Amino acid sequence: MGFDKVEVPDQGTKVEVTDDDELVVPDDPIIPIIHGDGIGTDVGPAAQKVLEAAAEETGHEINWMRVYAGESAREMYGENLPDDTVEAIREYRVAIKGPLTTPVGSGFRSLNVALRKKLDLYTNVRPTYYIDGVPSPVKHPEKMDMVSFRENTEDVYAGIEWEAGTDEVQKVREFIEKEMGFDETIHDGPVGIGIKPITEFGTKRLVRNAIDYALENDRDSVTLVHKGNIMKFTEGQFRDWGYEVAEEEYGDEVITEDTLWEERDGEAPDDAVVVNDRIADNMLQQILTRTDQYDVLAMPNLNGDYLSDACGAQIGGLGIAPGANMGYGRVLAEPVHGSAPKYAGQDKVNPSAMILSGRIMLEQLGWDDAADLVHDALEETVSAKKVTYDIHRQIEGGEKLATSEFANEIVENIRSLA
Ligand code: NAP
Repeated sequence: MGFDKVEVPDQGTKVEVTDDDELVVPDDPIIPIIHGDGIGTDVGPAAQKVLEAAAEETGHEINWMRVYAGESAREMYGENLPDDTVEAIREYRVAIKGPLTTPVGSGFRSLNVALRKKLDLYTNVRPTYYIDGVPSPVKHPEKMDMVSFRENTEDVYAGIEWEAGTDEVQKVREFIEKEMGFDETIHDGPVGIGIKPITEFGTKRLVRNAIDYALENDRDSVTLVHKGNIMKFTEGQFRDWGYEVAEEEYGDEVITEDTLWEERDGEAPDDAVVVNDRIADNMLQQILTRTDQYDVLAMPNLNGDYLSDACGAQIGGLGIAPGANMGYGRVLAEPVHGSAPKYAGQDKVNPSAMILSGRIMLEQLGWDDAADLVHDALEETVSAKKVTYDIHRQIEGGEKLATSEFANEIVENIRSLA
């Protein structure tokens, strides 16, 4: 297709997929990139430089295609999320983005949510692992090695809610009180009402992804994290449908924790993945107190949001935490952090989260050698105490680098490690 205002690079080849949505990756893919709002203008170019170097040193070539969303798109197109951007990611399949600002309370809805929904990127994956040398608030940050699979299209991300004082909310209130029988439940006076849909379809495809990942990556367990004791028909169903996938679709490869104790005295068969579940509030303390007992977490949207940020805090916080959105042979890598407007354009913040999101992108391209190189070079830089402000303020005797200087150090390390 033709694009309205963005240029397709002269060189490079499209990533394609098989009938099973497996990526077929050329050595010179075209990769769309959104730098993003706020600090996106700092971390975007830094990540590009590092990823390019790692690709080059391992015999590949990335051909970037700049596309726009948020403020830069408003300037160029007069809208927040132009078709060019959505179509470029749809067509070229593997892309990376920086953060985008979302106003709180009023204004437009989240562009991140819109992108994930328009492209049906139904899984948000956030690996949380420790990078040597990064200061952490816990005694043993190296025990944290979890991968969160967060559902990306329903629960609170369905965005079904009505504002207090509107005719719509009054209609919904009357329906709930008169037709559904909850007549003494909502306090008098203004009320905002939201609806939290969790479907069998949405749950099962997410849990399948988490289990497939655990099997492919030799992980021991998948934990379904829910609040089903209170929200029985949404989060409770999430748990039950999750167990159905585990019990019905994987044969001996997957075993539930209950079966493990009832039939095998707690002894898991070799190479099997154990599926268990935990209530979300308990899980928030388990990640601190029994960190090394958890591996892969599968969660509805809101639990996944809270849990993955809490996991991220244990390994050094938002400057470090990477992520990616995936679904049906498409990947959109993005850091967990937001646009931190107060630091925008200062060449100050930590680009590690965006760089490590790029690492996930490289893994998805099947370029594990390049992905490992990015990890090792970043770790070497941080271990040498060459760090950005966020890490520098927490360690003794480090060298404080700008975003671009930190990226240059990593590139140098990539060149010497390759
Ligand atoms: P934020 O932008 O993530 O920033 C919060 C704080 O986290 C910063 O003030 C800074 O802490 C630290 N931080 C974030 N990124 C960092 C980095 N790369 N290096 C070092 N420190 C970093 O969260 P927010 O202020 O709540 O959100 C700002 C905007 O971003 C909002 O409009 C929000 O909706 C949006 N957002 C977008 C995404 C996305 O695009 N996926 C995700 C989350 C939020 P210190 O002040 O302590 O230095």
